Amino acid sequence: MALNRRELLVRGGTAAAVGAGGLASAASAQAQQLPTQWQREADVIVIGSGACGLPAAIVAKEAGSSVIVIEAQPHVGGHARVSGGNMPLGGGTSVQKRYGIEDSPDLVFKDLTDWSVVQPNGFPDYRYNEREIIRAFADNSAATFEFLREHGVVFVDKPPDRQGGSSVGNSVLRTMHCAPMDWPLVQTGAPASPNLRATTSSGNGLMQPLDAAARKAGVEYLLEHKMTAIYREAPASGRVLGIAVDNNGSKLNIRARKAVIIATGGSTGNLNFRRMFDPRLTEEYCGLAGMPYSNQDASGEIAAMAINASLWGLFNFTSETGSGLTKPGQIGCQYGYVNLRWMPGSPVFSKARASGLRVADWQNVITVNMLGKRFYDETGRQYTANNYKGVDPYSYGSYLNAKNVRFEPNNWINAAMAGIGDGHNGGGAIWAIFDAAAVEREKWDPKPPNVDIEGGFFFSADTVSELARKIQMKYQRLPMPPQNLEETVGRYNGFVGQGRDFDFGKPRPLYTIAKPPFYAAWATPVLHDTRAGLRINGRCQVVDLNGEAIAGPYCGGESAGGFGMHGLARCPSQGFIAGRNAHAESARV
Ligand SMILES: Cc1cc2nc3c(=O)[nH]c(=O)nc-3n(C[C@H](O)[C@H](O)[C@H](O)COP(=O)(O)OP(=O)(O)OC[C@H]3O[C@@H](n4cnc5c(N)ncnc54)[C@H](O)[C@@H]3O)c2cc1C
Repeated sequence: MALNRRELLVRGGTAAAVGAGGLASAASAQAQQLPTQWQREADVIVIGSGACGLPAAIVAKEAGSSVIVIEAQPHVGGHARVSGGNMPLGGGTSVQKRYGIEDSPDLVFKDLTDWSVVQPNGFPDYRYNEREIIRAFADNSAATFEFLREHGVVFVDKPPDRQGGSSVGNSVLRTMHCAPMDWPLVQTGAPASPNLRATTSSGNGLMQPLDAAARKAGVEYLLEHKMTAIYREAPASGRVLGIAVDNNGSKLNIRARKAVIIATGGSTGNLNFRRMFDPRLTEEYCGLAGMPYSNQDASGEIAAMAINASLWGLFNFTSETGSGLTKPGQIGCQYGYVNLRWMPGSPVFSKARASGLRVADWQNVITVNMLGKRFYDETGRQYTANNYKGVDPYSYGSYLNAKNVRFEPNNWINAAMAGIGDGHNGGGAIWAIFDAAAVEREKWDPKPPNVDIEGGFFFSADTVSELARKIQMKYQRLPMPPQNLEETVGRYNGFVGQGRDFDFGKPRPLYTIAKPPFYAAWATPVLHDTRAGLRINGRCQVVDLNGEAIAGPYCGGESAGGFGMHGLARCPSQGFIAGRNAHAESARV
């Protein structure tokens, strides 16, 4: 398909070149020409088939627009499909009404903008939320919930609760749970057991029905198609025209008659991008939650920034609340996010390589840095987040909410990321050290496929000093001094005898590390949510560096900024809003 006259007139404008993991520069953007040929076209192009993208695609398609979903992976669903399926949509849903829970859009708005709610470490959950975006969420929250039900999502039949919610509002119960039903789970490759199919919570129960609904509505998918650039008439002016796509090395250009919806799911997987927010987030934080099913490589943000889009609400990325950074739940594997354990039956297990050893009790291990030194009480917690009655008693906006919180820093993660004083950013590799007695107590089987020996995420030896010598892998920047690890283990064993951890105050250390073999398992902090991204307005239009909405691009989900909540409520609701508004744009011929 050839360019139309207007597009030919503006030819010579730019689109951004986006490398897989790099930041496109304005200079390289200038070098790229608008396409002379469009291989495909649709009214609305949705980039990404996750929690934001599929609702957007369904809404736009059912309203009458033609829709193409571009998905980089060979499969649909993004992080949403491997998520926990806990969904705090409120504002007066049919289920809240059924159980007599009084909620309203105004209450959602007040909850999510209350300055006075802080966590025990002093960080606020809601203070830096963008009011316009929260208002749009509040007004569309209940409608999104009903939309999901109408499109096949089965919610566990019980009252809303507070399980799995993070920064979701203090006033009332809102969290519902997507039941996996009979859809195969990506984590295991098999459906949930019959007694859990309708009672447990799983992102499969959200994304599989939405996938089916999208196909039924006639949404077209292009899988293994990665958006590499967004075309705009000129770098800082004019409409968005379409996108550039890479399909396993073949390039094509897809024209959008109405709009492009960026639903690419965030940026934690892009080393340089994430380090703009937090310089500590160096290479060793390679165990992203949701990987290897899909990546968050900031490609949506970078492509939009190259056409003058702005970022927004950046505090929420570094706020020490919720699940942006987590303590691993599984050790000895690369992907140790606590609520996602890859099992050998999973279709992506060859990429995950190991399931990990699930830690039931952190008394069974000590955690050491690259120098073989302990740095914190191993039972220490990760960051926390507000939820129903997290502040109790609670009064909206009251100074007492913050004043009554007892300070408790929850600093295992920060201590792990403090580094070893060698001038490098990032904390380097963190290892859980334990012995054969711990293996027995935890009932672990420390062999593949439970641990990743080949990848360098698990080591064993007959002595502690030999163990230290063996720890060699790409994120262990320097050899671990064997005498350090010996001293650390000896000192800790002494604390167990004395009944007190004189270094880090671990509550009564219980077990010595003395019975060979000895083990070292990867226990480095895990990156999870992206909570800041492109600036959008209440209609989910992408906003530029002058504060003006750019004509044509929309964005929602983890690639959008201004909203510091865990994702499964905000992402579908923004897809719902973006899909509706993208459809309402007038089509260019
Ligand atoms: C293990 C886990 C558990 C979770 N549990 C919960 C929970 O219980 N409750 C909750 O509220 N939140 C939860 N979350 C968070 C929630 O799943 C995410 O916030 C949500 O899925 C984000 O939606 P999204 O549409 O922005 O991104 P995603 O769902 O990740 O979808 C983005 C899609 O875009 C694709 N993509 C990216 N770049 C490109 C490109 N350039 N071209 C084409 N396609 C591209 C990706 O491959 C992906 O399929 C969990 C997340 C994980 C990983």
